Amino acid sequence: MPELPEVEVVRRGLEPFVVGRVIERVEVREERSLKRHAGGAEAFVRTLEGREIREVARRGKFLWAPLSDARRTTSSPSSIGEALVMHLGMSGQLRVYAGESTQSAQASELPLREGPASDPERHLRIRVHMTGGTRIDFLDQRIFGGMHVSSLVPTPDGLAAGVGTDLPAIPESAAHIARDLLDPALDEPGLIRRIRTRKSPIKAVILDQGTVSGVGNIYADEALWEARLHYARPASGISSRKIRELLTACRGVMQRALEVGGTSFDSLYVNVDGRSGYFARSLNAYGKHGTPCPRCSRPLVRVQFQNRSSHYCPYCQRAR
Ligand SMILES: [Zn+2]
Repeated sequence: MPELPEVEVVRRGLEPFVVGRVIERVEVREERSLKRHAGGAEAFVRTLEGREIREVARRGKFLWAPLSDARRTTSSPSSIGEALVMHLGMSGQLRVYAGESTQSAQASELPLREGPASDPERHLRIRVHMTGGTRIDFLDQRIFGGMHVSSLVPTPDGLAAGVGTDLPAIPESAAHIARDLLDPALDEPGLIRRIRTRKSPIKAVILDQGTVSGVGNIYADEALWEARLHYARPASGISSRKIRELLTACRGVMQRALEVGGTSFDSLYVNVDGRSGYFARSLNAYGKHGTPCPRCSRPLVRVQFQNRSSHYCPYCQRAR
């Protein structure tokens, strides 16, 4: 499943190629990838064609592209525009093909490295053609992800909505998602206070997308190990200093993943269990059960916790 660093890699990959381009034509090959779009494929295509992509923004695992309102036929005074929202779900990939007028040192096909290389169209669900011959392909094997157009709503704090945007506007469909740890507008002291009002296990609290977004199981386990916290400790019983240490650890793991282009087990096809790949080898706890804890050399263990695996060191991370 793509985690926040993979989604940020996708955002950075898209940005230089699509910002300022006008959507000329949209091909929908799979209607189920539009299940969150009201009105179906025809309305989706009609809404997008002729509109310019202004930015590529991200909050947590949500990506969106604010659109020009040039072709908007309905104008509501409260509306501040619309955005194309892209969610990768479990297996989604976005590939950008640079057009002939795009100057790029790279080959014409850009990133998202892994995937069904033998047949790049096999899981193609939506294709967006833009000016200059640039094209985005949305591929998704399991169809948990998708695209839709959402109205933008003002951010409650009046600050830019996420990474990659200057607009204080978030898609309505993503407004329930909290700011993530890489967001420059994150109010960290406020987040620490909110976390400490919760009696739930700390791991459940940091995985809650309405509290802080984009912390997946890998990052939670790694950060808890680094901060020496047991996953089941009630958040309200942990000191502010310790919570700050946990968030810093979590941000650090994400940034290291970002430096190597994501955790590298973002696709269903390659490295899906996280055992291989450059970044996976640098993990301390996640997937390392049965191997010595890098800190105390006692064996790490894996347990089931709230329908997920938790990897931890019973000696360094005591339940109390
Ligand atoms: Zn240990």
